[in-house]
Amino acid sequence: MQVYGLIGDPVGHSVSPPMHEAAYEQLDIDARYVTFEPSEQSLGMALDGASALGIRGLNVTIPFKESVLPFVDADPLAERIGAVNTIDFSGEPTGHNTDAAGVTRAFDHHGVSLSGTAVIVGAGGAGRAAAFALADEGMTVHIANRTVSRAGSLAEDVPSATAHGLDDLDSLLSDADVLVNATSVGMESDETPVPKSALHSDLAVLDAVYKPLETRLLRDADAVGATTIDGAWMLLFQGVEAFELWTGREAPVETMNSALRAAL
Ligand code: NAP
Repeated sequence: MQVYGLIGDPVGHSVSPPMHEAAYEQLDIDARYVTFEPSEQSLGMALDGASALGIRGLNVTIPFKESVLPFVDADPLAERIGAVNTIDFSGEPTGHNTDAAGVTRAFDHHGVSLSGTAVIVGAGGAGRAAAFALADEGMTVHIANRTVSRAGSLAEDVPSATAHGLDDLDSLLSDADVLVNATSVGMESDETPVPKSALHSDLAVLDAVYKPLETRLLRDADAVGATTIDGAWMLLFQGVEAFELWTGREAPVETMNSALRAAL
């Protein structure tokens, strides 16, 4: 039996196990997907142990996405983003960032062409992944963040990106094609980081928040006729990308999507 899993803290309520195990069942792969909560201090030992035990792959979530970097050979994208969310143990442990593909594949799946201008709200882990992903597609990227200096540091790393405060959103969005909310705003309360007046029908809006699925931002975007993409699509496609990297097989996207949405 193959073993895959997730390390983070906390991981008790993760929807990754049912999403991946639905794919194993669909494709008749004899595998399990297990969650682990190592301490920060034992992270290196945990990864050595995973490798020694023949674990095939691990996803990595908060708070370890940056701290696993010294223990893996990170690919160029993960290196540039500065975070790893997927480790492949098929040889020496390699680190990847499939959150970036989670963003681009979520847009692709909805028929959104990734050209023109993207506005990313947020400059934390999700914001970094989205900024590199969309810049690599050739989009002009504007990053708006509550803490402007953090947007500035990210914009220094992403080719031709610009940094802004949230007050600039109205003007930035007027001729934008794509908007990503990569803040946690909308998760705990019915709030949005983007004024409704800034939204328009030519926008495609991805909200990285997936609890709840229907955020105030997506309701506002829907009301003005924008294309809306909820956070479960990004979560799905980061998992799809990890599955394909580990198994070399095409992921059963519909099966994984149903399992994920049933578990959320
Ligand atoms: P993070 O690294 O902690 O970054 C949080 C971001 O939210 C920062 O830009 C922060 O701004 C901003 N923020 C927090 N509270 C705010 C407020 N009240 N007003 C304005 N901005 C605020 O977190 P993360 O890992 O990037 O995650 C961000 C969100 O994306 C979370 O909801 C997470 O669940 C979601 N996410 C989803 C996926 C997916 O697959 N769908 C993947 C990763 C993350 P400051 O810099 O000013 O603090």
